[in-house]
Amino acid sequence: MSEQLSQTVSADNRDGILVLTIDNPPVNALSQSVRAGLLAGFTKAKDDASVKAVVLACAGRAFISGADIREFGKPPQAPGLGDVLALMENSSKPVVAAIHGNALGGGLEVTLCCHFRIATPTTRLGLPEVKLGLLPGAGGTQRLPRVVGPELAVKMIVTGEPITGTEALKVGLISETFEGDPAKAGEAFARKVLAEKRPLVRVRDDDSKLAAAKADRKLFTDAAAAANKRNRGLIAPLACAECVSYTLDYPFDKGLELERAKFLELMNGDQSKAQRYAFFAEREAAKVAGVPADTKPRDVKSVAIIGAGTMGGGIAMSFANAGIPVTIIEMGDEQLNRGLGIMKKNYDATAARGGITAEDATKRMGLINGKIGLEAAKDADLIIEAVFETMAVKKEVFTKLDAIAKPGAVLASNTSYLSIDEIASVTKRPQDVLGMHFFSPANVMRLCEIVRGAKTAPDVLVTAVAVARKIGKVPAVVGNCDGFVGNRMLAKRGKQSDLLLYEGALPQQIDAVVTKFGMPMGPFAMSDLAGLDIGWRSRKDRGIKSEIPDALCEAGRFGQKTGKGYYKYEAGSRAPIPDPEVEALIDQTLQKMGKKRRAVSDDEILERMVYPMVNEGARILEEKIAARPSDIDVVWLYGYGWPIYRGGPMHYADSVGLKQVADRLSYYAKQTNDPSLEPAPLLKKLADEGKTFASLAAG
Ligand code: NAD
Repeated sequence: MSEQLSQTVSADNRDGILVLTIDNPPVNALSQSVRAGLLAGFTKAKDDASVKAVVLACAGRAFISGADIREFGKPPQAPGLGDVLALMENSSKPVVAAIHGNALGGGLEVTLCCHFRIATPTTRLGLPEVKLGLLPGAGGTQRLPRVVGPELAVKMIVTGEPITGTEALKVGLISETFEGDPAKAGEAFARKVLAEKRPLVRVRDDDSKLAAAKADRKLFTDAAAAANKRNRGLIAPLACAECVSYTLDYPFDKGLELERAKFLELMNGDQSKAQRYAFFAEREAAKVAGVPADTKPRDVKSVAIIGAGTMGGGIAMSFANAGIPVTIIEMGDEQLNRGLGIMKKNYDATAARGGITAEDATKRMGLINGKIGLEAAKDADLIIEAVFETMAVKKEVFTKLDAIAKPGAVLASNTSYLSIDEIASVTKRPQDVLGMHFFSPANVMRLCEIVRGAKTAPDVLVTAVAVARKIGKVPAVVGNCDGFVGNRMLAKRGKQSDLLLYEGALPQQIDAVVTKFGMPMGPFAMSDLAGLDIGWRSRKDRGIKSEIPDALCEAGRFGQKTGKGYYKYEAGSRAPIPDPEVEALIDQTLQKMGKKRRAVSDDEILERMVYPMVNEGARILEEKIAARPSDIDVVWLYGYGWPIYRGGPMHYADSVGLKQVADRLSYYAKQTNDPSLEPAPLLKKLADEGKTFASLAAG
């Protein structure tokens, strides 16, 4: 008969096998009541002579999927996980973890304190703490290497990527795979252990898998270096590798103590705080503010994309990558074939790099159905327009779509800057129109700004959010304004980076400050990538001057496409190399303008790159273009590669202190004689009150 040990843990003595079942929906997190229940269960197992073995299993979709991150940063609630684990690990009766679904983070750490683990072939077993800027702090870094060897352990812990039950069996992380009911499988396995009188070995006592790396340290250091290869400025992956190395240098208990200290250091550090913030920000962003909670998305079974250019192609690939067929529509054969050719080349390149299999590449390409003429969109439930960025063209396309599309179809534009309301106004169904603004390359970048027009219906918004999530994007709902959230803020940074050139900083200095901060690219390397000629021609058409980029273009420096721009490029390489010719050109231009270069400090550059963006973010909040500061951060994290460990511009401003941000903006407003840099009213108010942007979300 089943006995409830705590709100979430029950015990069932099945003829000597005590089955402990955790039922803590949705993900069986290790919250306080689970810990209390396990403590009671293992105490019972110890004290009750009728119990011969213990099985630990979970109800629901998965095994324990980790710590309860809602408890992070709050005072610890007894019992601590360490006490529970010690009791389990020291059990004199066999303990079997019967795992299904997921055993992640604290979940896997719990199983490492059992004598035996069995799992279904598709179970995912891993230690993903690193993704929140942390490390497995309940012995994971000390026990996993003892089970699978330090080389594989460091890879799993540093990347946070799980392995499957089938793989786990091969590497000795589990003893058997099973199908069906975990508790029953665990019970059968426990009886086998008892019948065979299998020895009970505690993971902590078995150093045999450490021997090879202890004898040849390079085995470990190479594996650690490979796992950390793509690390850009994150401290947690390095700390993870260091902790795994303790298994080679220290006895178990000492390693555990050092792991704990490192864990607390990360937990209290700014990086993990920012990473945990980003995790919640992403979840929040999926909730559409101001829409009834029970709003149902419309059914989207078929999708059409208009335009097979840079963006249309990338968007189509995103759908195909998620296994969803799309129709992609062009004006003529030539454009369509070019577009399809680029997508195929992209897939083939990914397959050649080993990112996907050749069959996958063919399968995905097979989901993209090329067509000529808008008529082909008539059956689509969702139509995403990605044609040229001109209002006249957009209006023409939407007028036609209005006549062609079936009733209730969602009509989305991928426009970067143009007014969604103006686009919607040419249709008789503005309630069905909105923006779905993807970022380039659209098959890679995860952000999708969902632009809400004045008349967009709630269910249309919810549909766009659901579709974006289905294809693996991170949606952020924003209001309609020039450049929406991301590009509107980027323009403020662009203005400052240009000004700084005229004051005396060089492109490479400015870019270096920005990349050192953690952005993937500086503004000038970005300009070189995009090409300088488009802006130059448009300035000439409008009779506008911008002396430095004009001078570069006049010298034939259009960016990467001509092998030189703000930088020079070696043939076949995209790596920007500072060019003395550019410095000379800047000097000459400034001389002609009667300007003198001054030494600009890196601190000034950083402040002028970031704070004006934050100021614009404050205006965006005042105007309710974004509902939450965290939505703005999501835009920057997933659309522009803002370093996750700095949480986004608004979170970063909070961490610097809004008073400091506001004071510096005032200072630069005066220094550059630009009143628009004065702190926005909302920023000023929060700064004066000693508050943060985050306080707005809470309040
Ligand atoms: P692009 O020039 O590469 O592609 C546009 C495509 O649309 C062309 O292939 C063209 O033949 C096709 N087209 C034009 N009119 C059409 C019509 N009536 N019917 C069918 N096809 C038609 O442009 P892009 O860079 O892909 O940009 C598309 C949209 O996405 C623009 O609104 C742009 O502002 C936006 N956007 C671009 C980026 C970027 O970085 N390139 C990023 C975000 C958003």
